[in-house]
Amino acid sequence: MNVRDSEHIVAELTTKKNYCLTNSSREADLIIINTCSVREKPVSKLFSEIGKFNKTKKTDAKIGVCGCTASHLGAEIIKRAPAVNFVLGARNVSKISEIVDKNRAVEVDINHDESEFAFSNFRTSSYKSFINISIGCDKKCSFCIVPNTRGDEISIPLNLILDEVKKSVAMGAKEIFLLGQNVNNYGVRFSNPQLNKSLDFTDLLELVTAIDGVERVRFTSPHPLHMDDRFLEVFAKNPKICKSMHMPLQSGSTKILKSMKRGYSKEWFLNRAKKLRTLVPNVHITTDIIVGFPDETDEDFADTMEIIEKVRFEQIFSFKYSPRPFTTAIEFENVVPEEVASQRLTHLQKTHLNMLEEISALQKDKILKVYFEELRRDGMIAGRDESNFVVVVDGSEELLGKIKKVKIVNPRRVVLEGEIV
Ligand code: SAH
Repeated sequence: MNVRDSEHIVAELTTKKNYCLTNSSREADLIIINTCSVREKPVSKLFSEIGKFNKTKKTDAKIGVCGCTASHLGAEIIKRAPAVNFVLGARNVSKISEIVDKNRAVEVDINHDESEFAFSNFRTSSYKSFINISIGCDKKCSFCIVPNTRGDEISIPLNLILDEVKKSVAMGAKEIFLLGQNVNNYGVRFSNPQLNKSLDFTDLLELVTAIDGVERVRFTSPHPLHMDDRFLEVFAKNPKICKSMHMPLQSGSTKILKSMKRGYSKEWFLNRAKKLRTLVPNVHITTDIIVGFPDETDEDFADTMEIIEKVRFEQIFSFKYSPRPFTTAIEFENVVPEEVASQRLTHLQKTHLNMLEEISALQKDKILKVYFEELRRDGMIAGRDESNFVVVVDGSEELLGKIKKVKIVNPRRVVLEGEIV
């Protein structure tokens, strides 16, 4: 989502303000830092980055801070780092071409509605297009700062999304990547209330995949709670939907899930994952897990590990719980000691690495359909298969943007090496 926000920033500044991109921050007239605030670490990193840029930038170059930390800290950023010229929060991106000329301006209104704003066009990849389908998030997960930095959830009207898809295809993209904090809640609320509930995410998937030239559709993040049978069935049957599903678990313990306000239980999650594996035998299931949430006991953590053993996720993004401002969990008691959280995280990650080795080894000699999108330095070219394996083969530019069958000869843990057949 931040990558797409950055593309929007570049699009607006290059079409409306005569800026162009440079690879060197020393030569830049404007340096923009687009930030995350989900955990505390990226927030502290912001201030060290500002310091670094301030030392090396041209004297009159401006610095702007955008994104979720901008929303969260607002004017405090300029107070702590006077080198910063402006602060522009998430979901205020459409104001970039005005704020860039103001000094010490702060725009962080989390109620700003840009769901109907048609951004100018810029994409870093011509093979894959990120397309936002909603802004904000309506969930109230007790650990999560996002609803306070990106505001309430509003769906982007269908016609704007389909226009973006058609434009992307015309520019050569075969893969469309739909983005939102909670994609499978699409359609519940639009800016124009007449559109509310006129269609849902499953309908949207069918409409996007029906567009000529679209060969692959991916999306993130869906919420396990909204994975109803119809959604899973369309996901399974529609050949253009990539067989890769992100199912952010957070915790395997129903008690912890309740205090996280996730809205589902351990059993519901297992039921959905099992149904998915049955409907789509080659599916990739990825997940996010937080360890060390307040009141997480050894038994609760064992529930998380049990789900990992049962679902055998192809990828896990795992984090130690990080208390965040504006969240209800910041007040929770029974804080888990740092060493215990670290031990749990290490155990989880080690267990999963072993699992990953087995999962990768099973790919040997398989033939996968790979969409090539990235040149690697060593004469290799990389792409992803229909699920989500990263596959590399010997090759050069002419493979970029093509879908080819590849036989896997050397499956490594994170990358599968293969040969085109
Ligand atoms: N709406 C997205 C959430 C984006 S944040 C989703 O549900 O996937 C991505 C991940 O960061 C979350 O899934 C969660 O695992 C992690 N995260 C969010 N808040 C956190 C916190 N306070 N501490 C640690 N990890 C957190």
